[in-house]
Amino acid sequence: MPVTSYLVAIGSNRRHHRHGLPGDVVAAAMVALSTVGEVERRSTIIRSAAMGPAGRDFANAAVLVRSSLDPPAMLCGLKRLEGQFGRRRGRRWGQRVLDLDIIFWSGGTWQSPGLFVPHPGAAARAFVLQPLSEIAAQWRHPVSGLSVRHLYRRLTAPRPKHRGRACPGGS
Ligand code: AMP
Repeated sequence: MPVTSYLVAIGSNRRHHRHGLPGDVVAAAMVALSTVGEVERRSTIIRSAAMGPAGRDFANAAVLVRSSLDPPAMLCGLKRLEGQFGRRRGRRWGQRVLDLDIIFWSGGTWQSPGLFVPHPGAAARAFVLQPLSEIAAQWRHPVSGLSVRHLYRRLTAPRPKHRGRACPGGS
């Protein structure tokens, strides 16, 4: 497989006995990701409020990785790393030491059992798009054609108030 690029989202909301707090776990994961390719760009690490019943706040970041792995092999490598950080699979929004997701791939789209690229939730999550926009603002969603910057702005821009037509004779 030729070398291609992946945008990988990193999240943690649980401390690790050795690495420490979620922000430190994310920083350690950025280093450990060198096992799946060359980490070319790293975002800053942000804090975001937990979704659903996950409890504690998350630390989130994103990296651009260049790799000769194909998407299933990349997912396999990411799951191996999650396991090495002590992640146990279970509740969807449960506490997690490390969560690694493939958000975009320079090859465009990929679908195979258990793997969807782009990640179906990516375009709707500010905690994914904010770090991505730091390292790959111009990257385009292969289906909508919208850039990461556009997707992030669209999600975070204040919505204009709906202006209905005035009711005739109403107040
Ligand atoms: P999560 O709990 O969010 O890490 O999701 C777990 C499952 O999502 C994994 O076991 C994958 O099989 C599946 N999955 C589907 N698409 C992706 C993707 N683009 N990146 C990572 N995991 C994915």
